[in-house]
Amino acid sequence: MATTKKKPAARSNGNKKSASPLKLKNMINGKFVAASGGKADDVMNPATGEVMAKGPISSKQDVNKAVAAAKKAFDGWSTTTPSERALAMLRIADAIEENADEIADLEAANAGKPRHDFLSEEIPFMADNLRFFAGAGRCLEGKSAGEYAEGYTSYIRREPVGVVAQITPWNYPLMMAIWKIGPALAAGCTLVLKPAETTPVTTLTKLAEICAEHLPPGVANFIGGAGETGADLVTHKDIDLVSLTGSPETGKAIARAAADSLKKVHLELGGKAPVVIFDDADMDAAMETIAGTGYFNCGQDCTAATRVLASKNVYDDVVAGLAKQAGNQVIGDTFNKKTTLGPLNSERQRERVEGFLERAPKGAEIVTGGQRPNRRGYYLEPTVVAGLSQKDEMIQDEIFGPVITVQPFTNERKAIEWANGTRYGLASSVWTRDVGRAFRVSKALRFGCVWINDHIPIASEMPHGGYKQSGYGKDLSMYSLEDYTQIKHVMASLS
Ligand code: ADP
Repeated sequence: MATTKKKPAARSNGNKKSASPLKLKNMINGKFVAASGGKADDVMNPATGEVMAKGPISSKQDVNKAVAAAKKAFDGWSTTTPSERALAMLRIADAIEENADEIADLEAANAGKPRHDFLSEEIPFMADNLRFFAGAGRCLEGKSAGEYAEGYTSYIRREPVGVVAQITPWNYPLMMAIWKIGPALAAGCTLVLKPAETTPVTTLTKLAEICAEHLPPGVANFIGGAGETGADLVTHKDIDLVSLTGSPETGKAIARAAADSLKKVHLELGGKAPVVIFDDADMDAAMETIAGTGYFNCGQDCTAATRVLASKNVYDDVVAGLAKQAGNQVIGDTFNKKTTLGPLNSERQRERVEGFLERAPKGAEIVTGGQRPNRRGYYLEPTVVAGLSQKDEMIQDEIFGPVITVQPFTNERKAIEWANGTRYGLASSVWTRDVGRAFRVSKALRFGCVWINDHIPIASEMPHGGYKQSGYGKDLSMYSLEDYTQIKHVMASLS
C-alpha cells in the first residue's frame, strides 16, 4: 500500500540550539502540503524555551481539502476486509517501533518529556495498542441473527461511522493520536486528525509519513492549527463523528457545535483523580506510586495521582512521605537519562499552575516545591500542598502540573464523599489491605476506572473514559471500537 515516496527524515538535535526550525506541513491525501494561507505558529521546545518548529495553521480551505480526501477514501477503505486493515495497522505499529529513536528525539524536544520515559513507557504501548485494534477489528460482532418475526430473517451489521474528526491534546501528543487512529482505522472509518498547536511535531512528521506509506491516500489526513482550525473541522458537514481529548470547556464547545448537525461526539475531558489511602495501606508502595505517577509527564496526565485523601491516622506520615518523594525527583534536561521531571508543556501552562499556588487560600501549606528551578525552560519544582479544604480550587480543578495535594479524612463515608466531590470522574484509586473495603469503596467511587493498591497502569483491552464532566465514549478496548461503528438491522422477507 505504499503511496508516497519516502520524505526526508524529520530531525531533531536534542536540546542543542537548532539553526533552523523544522517546517511542518499538513498531510492530505497521502502528500505533505503546505497550509494554504502560508500561516505558521512558532512551536517551542519547552525544555529550552526556543522555537523548534513552525507549525502550519490550517485555513477552512485546508480543512475542506482534508475532509474531501477522507470522504473520497471512505468507500474504498470501509469495504476492505478487516484482515487487510489489520495488516496495514500492524505495519504502522512495526514502523513506529523501527523509528522509535527518531520519534523519541522529536517528542522529547517538542513535548518536554524525558526521552527515556517516552521510549520505555509510550512507544511499546502505542505499538501494542495498534496491534490490539488490528486484531479487534476482525472480531466485531452484531449480537443477534435469526427469525424474530414470522416470515423474516434478521441480522445485525456493524458498520463504520464514516469520516471522523480527531482532535488531540498536548500532554501525550503521539500516544493520543495512536489511541484515536487505532479504533477508527480498524472500524473502517477514514479520518482527519488535528494535533494540539503546541505539540504538532511527531504527528505532522513521523506519524503522517508512516501512515502515508502504509495506508491508501486520504484514509488518514493530518492538519495543523489551533482551536479555530479545530472548530472548522468539527462543524464541517461531511464529518460524522468528532473525537476530542481536551478540556471540559473545549468538549462542551464541541458538543454544542456538533449538536447543530447531530454529529456523534466522543469526549475525554480530563480528571482529578483521588487517591484514597486507608490506615492499613502499604505506605511505602503508596508513596512511591503516587510520586511516580503524580509527577510522571510533569503531572500533565488526566489520571495523575495528584489528589491524595489520607486517613487522619496516617495523614502526617503521608505528607512527610510525599515531601520526601518530591525531594527524590530529578529535574533536568529531557535528553538526560537521570531526569525524572521535565518541564511543563508551555509557558502558559506553567503560569496556569503557578496561578493555583499563588491563589492558595489562607491555611494552605506549600510543604515543598512551588518555585521555578534555576534553569531555562518551563520547569517547576515538584510540589506538595497540604491544609486545603474540599471546596478549594486546587482540590476542585485540574491543575495539570507537578502539584500533589493531601487532605485528611476521618472515616470511609467522608473519603468517598470527597473523592466523588468534583465535577470529574475519570480515574481513582483506593489503597487498603482490607478486601471488603477495597471492593466496597471501588463500587462507591464514581469514576470510569478504579485501581486497587496501584495507580495508572492501563491495558489496550480495557476501557479508558470518564463519568460526569470527564466526558463520554471510551478510548482503548472493544468499547472504543464500538464507538466508531454504528449498528444496522437488516431484515429479509423469506417469501
Ligand atoms: P488546553 O486548554 O489545555 O490547551 P484544549 O482543550 O483547549 O486544552 O485543547 C485540546 C485540543 O482541542 C487542541 O488540539 C486544541 O487546538 C483543540 N481545540 C481548542 N478549542 C477548540 C474548538 N473550539 N474546537 C475544536 N478544537 C478545539
